[in-house]
Amino acid sequence: MVGVSFPYDAPVSQTLFDRASLVTPGGVNSPVRAFRAVGGTPRFMVSGSGPYLTDADGREYVDLVCSWGPMILGHSHPEVIAAVQEAVARGTSFGTPGEGEVALAEEIVARVEPVEQVRLVSSGTEATMSAIRLARGFTGRAKVVKFAGCYHGHVDALLAAAGSGVATFGLPDTPGVTGAQAGDTIVLPYNDLDAVREAFAAHPGEIACVITEASPGNMGVVPPLDGFNAGLKELCAAGGALYISDEVMTGFRTSKAGWFGVDGVRPDLMTFGKVMGGGFPAAAFGGRADVMAHLAPVGPVYQAGTLSGNPVATAAGLAQLRLLDDAAYATVDAVSAEIRGLVSEALAKEGVAHTVQAASNMFSVFFTDRPVRNYEDAKKQEAFRFTAFFHSLLSQGVYLPPSAFESWFVSTAHDTQAVERIAAALPAAARAASEATA
Ligand code: PLP
Repeated sequence: MVGVSFPYDAPVSQTLFDRASLVTPGGVNSPVRAFRAVGGTPRFMVSGSGPYLTDADGREYVDLVCSWGPMILGHSHPEVIAAVQEAVARGTSFGTPGEGEVALAEEIVARVEPVEQVRLVSSGTEATMSAIRLARGFTGRAKVVKFAGCYHGHVDALLAAAGSGVATFGLPDTPGVTGAQAGDTIVLPYNDLDAVREAFAAHPGEIACVITEASPGNMGVVPPLDGFNAGLKELCAAGGALYISDEVMTGFRTSKAGWFGVDGVRPDLMTFGKVMGGGFPAAAFGGRADVMAHLAPVGPVYQAGTLSGNPVATAAGLAQLRLLDDAAYATVDAVSAEIRGLVSEALAKEGVAHTVQAASNMFSVFFTDRPVRNYEDAKKQEAFRFTAFFHSLLSQGVYLPPSAFESWFVSTAHDTQAVERIAAALPAAARAASEATA
């Protein structure tokens, strides 16, 4: 990567990466992990404990990725591990209904008021894909509205102008997604209600649903402007479309009831993942009972999964959710605010133009002094400064998401010692960001 030096190497990770690259495309099983946006050797992690990760070279990092959100109690939380051990000792998959999945569904329904019924799946991608199919089946309409910079997993119809890895790699669209698959997707600028109004006017009776991240975190953190989600809900209701709030990232992270707990706008359908799986592959979609009644085996819209409601995953998710009380969210919110303050202070001291944006405890740093309200704004930042900032922090034992277009995540385990380590690393990182050249 031009203009960036990697302050130290990681020989064991490099050897593993070389091996991985022979048998797996790009050496990784999810593209952003490959460090392509920042360069250098992706760290192969061997263990996690509380706020720390340890890599294959034996170096410890304060983790500000938290597995991209799920690890809100930190790594290897003893009660989550105990629940998993207890479940695993009883068997790993039965392919039948089981009590764990009932308990997890009850917990979700109890926490998130608009969710009257919920179906468990194994990934956020499956959740959004299934929610869209259900919306189309329920309304008998084809078109889907999504927003540029919002990422809803790698669902064919939703990869148009997506955030996260798609944003990181600047892909305009993805080969392999046919015109037919994406042809019914209408992509609009985020935070622009007029654009949504115009889309409904241009396609009367054709729009099945509007899907949005409840508060986007996949173009960096770009919260909805006041009234945006409420306006979407109103336009959907008036246009006979369903309002789908994707809470895969925000669900059970931004509050006990996710972003719904923050803005109170009632979606028709919602999707969940990440935190609700406790670090295992568990996700869900749910919402209005009359809509969910269109799903097989009650209704005609087919949806299924061999490992859906897996007993080990549901045990982990349930244990994690039960530990997430008001005090836990207060802790995560406070540590997030503290780290945001430290980052901003360090960058300001070096005169680096930046904007820190937050949605409850999710946050990210944009290298621009202008507020970021949509994907176009996000792309205008000086991402090359992030690269220098990232590598400086990595070399000092602080692990950030390896892209300027991702949310940072913290946990209840990020204690004073972890925050002090971040604080100690920030001045040099801010200096590196200020000295970086495009
Ligand atoms: N929706 C949102 C908002 C996400 O952030 C993600 C993943 O980051 C997904 C959907 C897809 O989830 P998964 O990676 O579990 O398929």
